[in-house]
Amino acid sequence: MVFFTEFIHRTSHVRPAFLTHIMPAITIRDYLSSPKPIMENADEQFMHEALAEAEAAHDAGEVPVGAIVVLAGEVIGRGRNAVIATSDPTAHAEIVALREAAAKLGNYRLTGSTIYSTIEPCAMCAGALVHARVARLVYGAKDTKAGAVETHFGICAAEFLNHQVSVEGGILESDCRRMLQSFFLERR
Ligand SMILES: [Zn+2]
Repeated sequence: MVFFTEFIHRTSHVRPAFLTHIMPAITIRDYLSSPKPIMENADEQFMHEALAEAEAAHDAGEVPVGAIVVLAGEVIGRGRNAVIATSDPTAHAEIVALREAAAKLGNYRLTGSTIYSTIEPCAMCAGALVHARVARLVYGAKDTKAGAVETHFGICAAEFLNHQVSVEGGILESDCRRMLQSFFLERR
């Protein structure tokens, strides 16, 4: 299952380049007639959905972070930071999305899934990704204070844990960073 979803992921990256270089005329026509921008890869499309969750958190007065869990190309969990509204210190976007996905599958293990988070996960969330056996984490901007994936700790790659999560950062990085920065600028 993991290998299958990895294969889908890789081919989704290959397609736009193939169309651009081999069939430019078709690409332009398809691009203009397509309701979804086909020049974007799947990671960027799902990150846009995570950004929409972050925006909803922003509108609710929460720190704007959003997350999406995807399995076999289907969104199975959505989350936005909601610690204030729920009086719950664990209600980070990633945790909320993991809970929804696990409830939907009826399984606490989300084997083969990918999570998209607008910001590098904290120690709590990175730990939860390992517990949930998430296959892949895609995040937008680094959290230079509390990030626990690449900034600090390296939790998703820790060999002393019995599961590792592959990591790809920097997807729609500037959009994700701007979302967070504008929130804090508004509060000054
Ligand atoms: Zn977190």
